[in-house]
Amino acid sequence: MSTIAVIGGGPAGYVAALTAARKGLKTIVIEEGELGGTCLNRGCIPTKALVKSASVYSLLKSAHKFGVANAGGEVKWEQVQERKRKIVEGLRRGLQSLMKEAGIRVVQGKAAFQAEHKLEVISKSGDVSLLDIDRIIIASGSTVKPLKECAIDEKNILSSTGILAIPQLPQSLLVIGGGVIGLEFASIFNTLGVEVIVVEALPHILPGIDEEAGSLIAALLGKRGVKFKLSAKVLRVDHLSGKMSVQLQTSKGIEEVVVDKILVAVGRIPNISELRLEKAGVTVEKGQIKVDKSLKTSVEGIYAAGDVIGNPMLAHAAFIEGATAAMAASGEAVEMQGQAIPACVYTIPEVAQVGLTEKEARELYGNVKVGKYPLRANGKALIEDEGGEEGFIKIISDGKYGEVLGVVMVGPHATELIGLGVLAINNELTIEQLADTVQAHPTICEAAREAALIAVGRPLHI
Ligand code: NAD
Repeated sequence: MSTIAVIGGGPAGYVAALTAARKGLKTIVIEEGELGGTCLNRGCIPTKALVKSASVYSLLKSAHKFGVANAGGEVKWEQVQERKRKIVEGLRRGLQSLMKEAGIRVVQGKAAFQAEHKLEVISKSGDVSLLDIDRIIIASGSTVKPLKECAIDEKNILSSTGILAIPQLPQSLLVIGGGVIGLEFASIFNTLGVEVIVVEALPHILPGIDEEAGSLIAALLGKRGVKFKLSAKVLRVDHLSGKMSVQLQTSKGIEEVVVDKILVAVGRIPNISELRLEKAGVTVEKGQIKVDKSLKTSVEGIYAAGDVIGNPMLAHAAFIEGATAAMAASGEAVEMQGQAIPACVYTIPEVAQVGLTEKEARELYGNVKVGKYPLRANGKALIEDEGGEEGFIKIISDGKYGEVLGVVMVGPHATELIGLGVLAINNELTIEQLADTVQAHPTICEAAREAALIAVGRPLHI
């Protein structure tokens, strides 16, 4: 039986391992930490558990709007943390059983190349073992990008990992980076009553997200008290008796703010610096592993998947990449198909998009049709009353053939509803097909059909 080794047990790695094992390969996963990687242990899952606690608190505070009196609500941070921990542990146990049932051997340790097909694994206690393996999948993930002006100490200057485990809520938080991580934490902590300032180097937040959606989220968070310093940079940080004094370069000049904690969220970088890839001859370009469409690296028999191959650094992209790499490694003629990959931001309200932004579509296609339906005209969004009635669903289509090019959503459950857009774009559906697809009433999903109806010139409830 052929053997395959997967370096990393995160979304790319464990899916690669499960796929390889189900293809009949003897499979080894080398993981230095916990199975589930960043996503399960320090990313998607724990963060969204905090989002849920924040939403419940927010709902209780606004219970009177729903005719419910005296709902009150007090955040018990340790219990919030405990709930998050239980969810993570439960999922981790599930993953461990999946691996066991598939007959996958999980080796605890840190892997590095000694030669093309030779791996060294160092266990926590320092024992070194050597593996000679003809097929290897590198899925070692990514790590927090450091910021030289503001060194992370995980006490006062936190990364997205450290902030998940803070023992109590701070009074104030400065978030450096207005990307997905920065905005999700800004939204969580602002909802929980923390004073939040976001510093972003660009003139807008959420790079890569549709501009209209990004501006709306900035406005909605701004209304709730989040302060944005755009086109701004941190110059220096000084510790002063338990607080941080931060000097910022903003468009107005030099400003100083004093906060309890700082979150550094200026991006993530592939986790490759300790793999000794040069010993195997694996080509690295711009800090990420270079792969072809079947996810093969420059070396025969060595594949890579997930954050190590660069953007989009998303768990759901890693799932499909891990599976593809494992099938290719097991000898199947497979390639990545340019699948539509949704981007979701779990702010309150949520933002989700798939395909092109409106600006990208206009630049690429020139002639585009845009149908946008405001959620304030959608019954279910008004019933939900989560602040999302200020949101919208927008569908961008090719003006000539009607192919759906992009779907953008801001509002309650946007990260769930975007599945409709993913299905449309992945299957090259047309705007007419979306307009002619009946959606249940009352649902927010109807707003997508309404947006399509607007685009084809048959508006219904507007
Ligand atoms: P990001 O690239 O999305 O955002 C980083 C932001 O920091 C950018 O807006 C950038 O302009 C800004 N920035 C960079 N240097 C700066 C500086 N010196 N001062 C101020 N601003 C600065 O990165 P991220 O938010 O750290 O997320 C990392 C990765 O993780 C991304 O690929 C993201 O998609 C992924 N992620 C996804 C989700 C999700 O799907 N919901 C959640 C978390 C993370």
